[in-house]
Amino acid sequence: MTDQLQWIQTELDTLKDQGLYNHIRTLASPQGPWLVVDGKKALNFCSNNYLGLANHPRLVQAAKEIVDRYGVGPTAVRSIAGTMDIHLELERRLAQFKGVEAAVTFQSGFCANLAVIPALVSKEDVIFSDELNHASIIDGSRLSRARIERFAHANPADLERVIRANAGSYRRGLVITDGVFSMDGDLAPLDEIYAVSSAHDLMLMVDDAHGEGVVGKGGRGIVDHFNLHGKVDVEVGTLSKAFGVVGGVVAGKSVIVEWLRQRGRPFLFSSAVTPPDVAACLAAVDLLEESTDLVDKLWENSRYFKTEMKALGFDTGLSVTPITPIMLGEAPLAQQFSRELYNEGVFAMAIGFPTVPQGKARIRVMISASHSRDDLDYGLQAFAKVGRKLGVIR
Ligand SMILES: *Cc1c(COP(=O)(O)O)cnc(C)c1O
Repeated sequence: MTDQLQWIQTELDTLKDQGLYNHIRTLASPQGPWLVVDGKKALNFCSNNYLGLANHPRLVQAAKEIVDRYGVGPTAVRSIAGTMDIHLELERRLAQFKGVEAAVTFQSGFCANLAVIPALVSKEDVIFSDELNHASIIDGSRLSRARIERFAHANPADLERVIRANAGSYRRGLVITDGVFSMDGDLAPLDEIYAVSSAHDLMLMVDDAHGEGVVGKGGRGIVDHFNLHGKVDVEVGTLSKAFGVVGGVVAGKSVIVEWLRQRGRPFLFSSAVTPPDVAACLAAVDLLEESTDLVDKLWENSRYFKTEMKALGFDTGLSVTPITPIMLGEAPLAQQFSRELYNEGVFAMAIGFPTVPQGKARIRVMISASHSRDDLDYGLQAFAKVGRKLGVIR
């Protein structure tokens, strides 16, 4: 009678046995450089709060003020209930910041991918996808019903090979890559990927969730980093990482943005983010346009932390961005490392399969501009102590 759900318990137990069960910590503080995690103060090495904007006074103030004018919710999808002028203002400002014709926002970066990919390709089409692309790209691709052809990670020569192998077998083609890969902190070679995709007249899309506010001039993203303005058809971004709030964005040619307002299903069938979200995002754009100080500090902190970790003997993998993986190998070791760090007052998560391949478990440290030098030194000392105790370094 009761046991049609027993299989779930069995699966959950298996995850626990394999060290792959997600133990989610409870926070009782804002996302700042220090947190209260399960009742204990700990250094924050987990969040994507690259610029410290999640609790920035300017964003908090902007969110408070807009609530008095616009209330707290949009109450229906924009195409039915009308769209608030502040959402349009944010889209104009984001387009301007990124140097593109137009932008449209979504509830999240995940939704942005679910919106844009099925709007661009369908059954007769093909998607050329980096094998390490984010889960939301994979899900958006599956929803589109286009054929998915994967190419080797960050490898333009393999992209070329896969395109040639599929020549003549499809109507439209779309190349998709992450900009910054979130588990390794490496960058897509977007200039070379553009060269290949344009030579074959393919559409090109980059998901720059971890590049927005981080790479490029003053955080303008990977397209700016490679100086490919006007060449990449679609840039997907998130407002939940460096921007510190929540929401997704698609930026690019105005014809694509116009099409998404007609055919992007998360746009048509799900309400927009709330007025305080929008006001906080507008304040974030203001800050980024006023100065590059926060972005500069982020990179200075990242360089310092990475250099010191390497000097201690840790392997930081392929990272060239503030995402700093500490490669450990097996998932149980990474989980134990994370627990020991927590005992030392450092909150840094272990990441294992299926988020990363088997045998490539790691601790992923997320550096922020909000960390002081003392904060980073505190974290380095904890890593050194736990690393020696567990035999990872000498
Ligand atoms: C985080 C992330 C997303 C999802 O963004 P949300 O706004 O949190 O939904 C999408 N794509 C990539 C590459 C990401 O890293």
